[in-house]
Amino acid sequence: MCSIIGYYGKESAAPIIVKGLKRMEYRGYDSVGVATESENEIELKKGTGKVQEVNSKVQLETLPGKVGIGHTRWATHGKVTDANAHPHPSNSGKIAIVHNGIIENFEELKKQLESEGYVFKSETDSEIIANLIQKNHEQTNDVKETILKTVSQLKGHYAFVVMFEDGQLAAARFHEPLILGVGKEDYFLSSDVLGFIEFTDNAIYIENGTFVILDKNKFKIFDFDGEHSGYEITKVSKEFGDAYKGDYAHFTLKEIYEQPETILKAGEKTISEIDRAADYLRHAKNIYVTGSGSSYNSALIAKQILSKYVKIKAEPIMSSELQFAPNTIEENSILIAISQSGESADVLDAVKIAKKANCKIISIVNLLTSSLARESDVLIGLNCGPEIGVAATKSFTSQLVILYKIVQKLSNNDITIDFENFSKSISKTLDNPSTIQKIAKELKEISDIYILGRGINYPIATESALKLKELTYIHAEGIAGGELKHGPLALMDSQVFVIILNPNDSTYSDTLTSAREIKARGAKIIGVSDVKSDVYDYWIEMPKISEVLYPISEIIPIQLLSYYGALERDADPDYPRNLAKSVTVK
Ligand code: GLU
Repeated sequence: MCSIIGYYGKESAAPIIVKGLKRMEYRGYDSVGVATESENEIELKKGTGKVQEVNSKVQLETLPGKVGIGHTRWATHGKVTDANAHPHPSNSGKIAIVHNGIIENFEELKKQLESEGYVFKSETDSEIIANLIQKNHEQTNDVKETILKTVSQLKGHYAFVVMFEDGQLAAARFHEPLILGVGKEDYFLSSDVLGFIEFTDNAIYIENGTFVILDKNKFKIFDFDGEHSGYEITKVSKEFGDAYKGDYAHFTLKEIYEQPETILKAGEKTISEIDRAADYLRHAKNIYVTGSGSSYNSALIAKQILSKYVKIKAEPIMSSELQFAPNTIEENSILIAISQSGESADVLDAVKIAKKANCKIISIVNLLTSSLARESDVLIGLNCGPEIGVAATKSFTSQLVILYKIVQKLSNNDITIDFENFSKSISKTLDNPSTIQKIAKELKEISDIYILGRGINYPIATESALKLKELTYIHAEGIAGGELKHGPLALMDSQVFVIILNPNDSTYSDTLTSAREIKARGAKIIGVSDVKSDVYDYWIEMPKISEVLYPISEIIPIQLLSYYGALERDADPDYPRNLAKSVTVK
């Protein structure tokens, strides 16, 4: 969600910044801008649209100078307009800022600054940072004192980079990501390592509540009390810079097709952590599992498999809801936090609440250097490589594999899962997309789709609905089979499509009955099952596999259907409208 970037070095800044912004496009955004400093003057260009579009329109890359800042905005305050795009200059034009996050007290600060004669040109909360810094800098004439004073006045969540007319850069972090890339002769400030990975793999993950000053080829890091703050240089895995589509038309398609491989690799680099997680869970007083979006659907599956296979009780919690019921968390318990990016604001907030209650945190996360990773007592990596498509695909199935591996461990390996064979069966599904492509064509005109499943297949129904919504923009809803007659049946008619998740498990016969009841109302039925039935208008054949693996097996054809559905409806599968990959603002 939004990216900020800063460059200070020996090269021309603007092309490097534009490149970095392009690499971070997957995070989601609606406008772009760059500002550079040259001969003690700041120049700035910005606009709404994709990096490539804005660049060809206003030639961002031609801005002069070896210091600069850039931004892709995901609007929270103020419409998507050129004026609201970042960077924002201060009134004097001697300062420019880029900001990720939300300034909660911006109205109060704006009023104060307006009463002192400052004029605002945008509707954003961010612009106040520029003018506040101008004011504080005029008073202190010192960059460090300016930042200290500014952060003491701001309330909210932010990472910002500020550029001064003499080419100094400073950046502060408070509950939004910020990384310093340290090259041989240059420095990068960025929301994500992808912003600089092709120039350096040395990264300093800036701690929360600290800030960086870059000047004359050195950097200094301070905490918000002005004390020097320690830091560690991490070698970032080059693998995360390897974000290319290859021969695939879209990242999302590539990521769906990587699953036979990623399923085998899930958790591989952190196997001993899976053992540790099992140990923690064995002795836990209470277990909670939290996540947002697809990760929340994984949490729902975690509850079911822990109870079904090892009789352990776990409570799933939607991360964004926990703040309204913090007492749900009992002291000295365990929280399993699930997140692809490890930067989701809601998940990090849930972790904060659990830590306050003295809980231990087991995290299941793709980015081992993320904020969540650094808050964890036990850290299990998805190990599925970068996921660029905004809709979670391979990260979701890797989360499930890791949960299964934990359950396997807890059962003292009583449950056997043949992942090798499973991986082969997924390849088969992926190699035969023709039925799915045919169904996708029918999605072109429809406005509602329902997905029905029972028991462990219900969280997959909600995950399926999420995929279809994100990628095709069709209204989609997951239905727990038993609830059909308690309401949703009223919606069934000939205009409606219903996907029935119906593997040959204990839910099979009841779910087949639901399918017949729906069919009797004229709706079109797509059966996802390992058993054929005359009730299905389309049958997506699932491989015959061990029951344990049904949930993972079911979601893969739905991911593919969502992808092809998006193409039919002219939606961009990699960057769905209004959505961002890592939701770092609340
Ligand atoms: N709140 C700011 C705005 O609406 C920054 C949003 C972002 O993180 O991109 O401009």
